[in-house]
Formats: sequence, C-alpha cells, structure tokens
Amino acid sequence: MESTVRYTDISQDFDLQPGSTVTPLMQIAGEIRSQNRFLVTSHARPDGDAVGSTLAMGSILHRMGKDVDMVLADPVPQVYRTLPGMARIRQSREIDPAAYDVAIILECDGTLRTGLTGLDGMRLVNIDHHLTGAHFGALNWIDPEASAVAAMVFEVAVALGVDVTPAIATCLYTALMTDTGSFTYPGTSADTFTLAHALIDLGAKADSVARDVLYSVPASRIQLLGRALSRIRIDADVAWSWITQDDLCEFCATDEDSEGTVNYLISIAGVEAAIFLREIEGEPRQFRTSLRSKSKVDVSAVASKLGGGGHRNAAGCTLDGPFDHAVTNVLTAMREELGRAAAAETVC
Ligand code: 5GP
Ligand code: MN
Repeated sequence: MESTVRYTDISQDFDLQPGSTVTPLMQIAGEIRSQNRFLVTSHARPDGDAVGSTLAMGSILHRMGKDVDMVLADPVPQVYRTLPGMARIRQSREIDPAAYDVAIILECDGTLRTGLTGLDGMRLVNIDHHLTGAHFGALNWIDPEASAVAAMVFEVAVALGVDVTPAIATCLYTALMTDTGSFTYPGTSADTFTLAHALIDLGAKADSVARDVLYSVPASRIQLLGRALSRIRIDADVAWSWITQDDLCEFCATDEDSEGTVNYLISIAGVEAAIFLREIEGEPRQFRTSLRSKSKVDVSAVASKLGGGGHRNAAGCTLDGPFDHAVTNVLTAMREELGRAAAAETVC
C-alpha cells in the first residue's frame, strides 16, 4: 500500500556489507534477537506515549517468544486503562536486576526518570525522542524528529519482522495521537500522518481511541480545569496558572486530572509561552511544572536550566517551593529564553 512504503522499506536484513553503517535501530534489533529476558519500562507519571509504547514493545517481544516484564513506577492514567494488554503492566518502584538480560527504557533521559530502583548496572537499551535525550544506555537511539517514541517502536517491529497486530497498532496510535496533541503540535509532519495511516490500516480505530482518551475524562478533571482557568495570569506573551493540593482535595481530583491544563494556557491568542504549576503532596513543598511554547521559544532549554527536560515546545521540571519562589524562578528563566528568541529573530 502506497502510504506504508516508508515503513515497509526499512524492513531490512542485517547481513551488513563491509563498510556499511550500523544504525542504532539495527543494533537494537540485533540485541533483541540475541537476548531473552526483557524488562520494558518508561518514565514515572506515564503519559500516553509512555503507556502505549511500553505495551507495544512488550507485545512485540512477547510475539517473538521472549520473556517480558512491563513495569511502570506510577499508576497508568485512567484514560489508558482500556488499552489492550494493560493487565500485564506491573506497578512497582523496584526491580530485580538479576531477573533480566536487558532493560528497554522508553522516553527517558536517564534511569532516574523511570522512578525505578535496580536499573543501574543493568544492560540498558535507551529509546527516546526528546531533544534533551542522553546517551545513558549500552545502546542508545535518540531521534528528536520522531513524533512519538511510538514511531520508533513501530520501526523496531518492522525491523524485526514482527506483525503489527490490531492490538499493537491501537497502543501505538494512542501514543502517537496523545504525544502530538491530536496531530497539532509543531513536530507533526507528513511522517506522522503516514504512520497514523499505516496504524489505522493495521487495525487501530481512530474514533474509539479518541472516545476512550479524549472523551472519557472524569468530572473532577473539568472542575479542576475550571479552577486553573479562573486563575490565569497573563503577563504580555506569557500565561500561567496553578493548582494546589487543597484544590485537588476540594474536587476529589487526582494528580493526573490536571494533565493537559497547560494546553489551554498556550491556546490564548498572543501568548508565546505557558507555565502550569501543580503542588505536589508532602514536604518539602514542590511543584510539578509544565512548560509550553507556540514556536519561537525553546522551553526544553528553560526546563533543562531548572533540572528538567523535554521538547522544544513541550517540557517540564519539578521546582522547589515555596510557591512564590517557584513562580519567580520559572518566570525569570522563561523571560530570559523569550529574550534570547527575540534577539535571534532580530539578527535574522
Ligand atoms: P508534561 O508537561 O506533559 O508533563 O511534559 C512535557 C514533556 O516534557 C514530556 O515530553 C515529558 O517527557 C518532558 N518532561 C516533563 N517533565 C520532565 C522532567 O522532569 N525531566 C525531563 N527530562 N523531562 C520532562
Ligand atoms: Mn513521547
């Protein structure tokens, strides 16, 4: 089929000619073929790409007859719990390194980001698409051009000659849809739609995924959103807002209920950068912070400066309180980056 050509074409055998280049994908495919006991994991507080890509990678390995354990440090958000294979994901903060030959780590810039202990010293395969990705594994494949890690997992399946079943396609499509903001973020390219087309050909149902993920949110989430929106501050081209633990209590909401709120802030006309802070339970007081930009500003640079990371237009970090201190820190760093972006525009 025309639209899937790019993906079927990369199905290759690995008998390399002398002098030819070994790509990270080929190395990873070789590693998967030669090992047997796999751990698959992704980042703490998993999002759609983390969950969908973990499930898809787990199924690919399972279909190859490998032993697979899928472990995530935090609970899977409610909206992804209908994904095929979900019951096979284990939630734990600790793994036994002796139980595996290799750990495949998706979407992380280091083992710390998984929220798991026991990974250090293990043989690690690192697959990531963040601009701030790091080469922490024995094998590393970091492709910031990929719309989602799901696109890279798809290429792993193709390279290994594993059939992408409707279940795998559904997990990958969910990851792709969520990580591109329903195909709207700046990284969305023709390749994104080619992959979406291929996944739908392979059995993913775009309407059911949209219904399960976008139109099945609990009322508490909308109430929390209302609170955050009622507090918006707009200072020239920066919009920001926040949610406290008291707000979460008031609406019986959970941490995941504030996911996506930042996207409303960046949707405002004239706003170039948005910041959303959520107070974390416990002491010392800290704030999970989501950063977004429309195009000009590199928010991954802002997040990196504050100890986090991410993509050019979507990044995050955890800030120390008290609240005013956290806000001042992030606004200052954001203003600096906006200044840099404006200066670069003037030079151009
Ligand atoms: P979100 O704001 O949706 O939590 O995160 C936006 C993007 O930034 C995601 O791709 C996420 O993986 C990345 N990100 C968020 N927080 C952190 C962090 O603390 N460290 C790193 N390295 N990346 C983060
Ligand atoms: Mn991702």
